Amino acid sequence: QAKSAGKGCYRVFDREAHAQRLKASQLEAQLPLALKQDEFEVFYQPIINLKSGVVKGFEALVRWNHPQLGRLSPDQFIPIAEETGLIQALGEWVLQTACAQMSAWHGMVPGPAKPSINVNLSARQFAQPHLLKSIQNILHRSQLDPAYLNLELTESCIFNRDQETLRLVQQLQELGAYIYLDDFGVGYSSLQYLNFFPLNGLKIDRSFTQKLNCHAQTQAIVRSVISMAQALQMEIVAEGIENYQQTHCLSTLNCCFGQGFLYAPPLSGADAANLLTQQLSF
Ligand code: C2E
Ligand code: MG
Ligand code: MG
Ligand code: MG
Repeated sequence: QAKSAGKGCYRVFDREAHAQRLKASQLEAQLPLALKQDEFEVFYQPIINLKSGVVKGFEALVRWNHPQLGRLSPDQFIPIAEETGLIQALGEWVLQTACAQMSAWHGMVPGPAKPSINVNLSARQFAQPHLLKSIQNILHRSQLDPAYLNLELTESCIFNRDQETLRLVQQLQELGAYIYLDDFGVGYSSLQYLNFFPLNGLKIDRSFTQKLNCHAQTQAIVRSVISMAQALQMEIVAEGIENYQQTHCLSTLNCCFGQGFLYAPPLSGADAANLLTQQLSF
């Protein structure tokens, strides 16, 4: 009895795995056309000054408005785009769209407190020889002041701790952009990266943020990451803040910035613009 039930479960699992592979190959076939047909959309998640509540900037997060499957999250198609190489074109489109959007928002924000835009780069994108030139062109075309562009790299982007990769990081900084290490703490040798690359900021992975309340050990780790970042003059952003206890805890640990569902999910361009306008009228 138990054995046959077990077998049944196995078959269900198998069928699911098969369905998933089928879907992945469908998405793979549809990706190139989707870009031409304008099915991608950039959403913007606010990054908040935890003390004042003011929006410091936004992280650009891409979505695919699939005509049959609805809105797909990046986890469902970024890995496919990476495998097929389409990430180059998609990544460039995200950069162009996000920079143009932020440049337009700067037009409506008077005064010096302009929001910045964070854009994620994937490993394959980072390895492409034209990246520097392409970012230069995008900054020129969008008329965005590079000081408001933050590029989020994962460890896989800077996996090679060699002179060539170091040079690219420096050249991006010479353009005026800032380099953040994303998902900090979940990689293999985070401290090695900090020791080799002149990074401008760290994003503390949400797995740490989410254990802050109940876990003294996590608090100790985050506290030392923050004091290390301060000593290295890096900015810190905590990811995945879902409740006020987490904000409170982060504030007492001197973490200045954060993002998460507590403040806002990733917003459409129109909703993000409304948020900025509301903030201006305070
Ligand atoms: P990420 O860069 O670490 O982005 C943060 C992810 O956490 C986003 O997921 C965001 O929606 C989610 N998030 C934000 N606040 C909370 C919270 O309070 N709780 C929880 N549980 N989650 C929260 P999303 O938008 O699904 O993106 C997933 C990943 O896909 C991103 O992780 C990033 O690595 C990648 N990605 C997104 N857009 C792009 C892109 O344009 N280019 C590249 N190369 N990768 C992208
Ligand atoms: Mg990110
Ligand atoms: Mg992240
Ligand atoms: Mg993350």
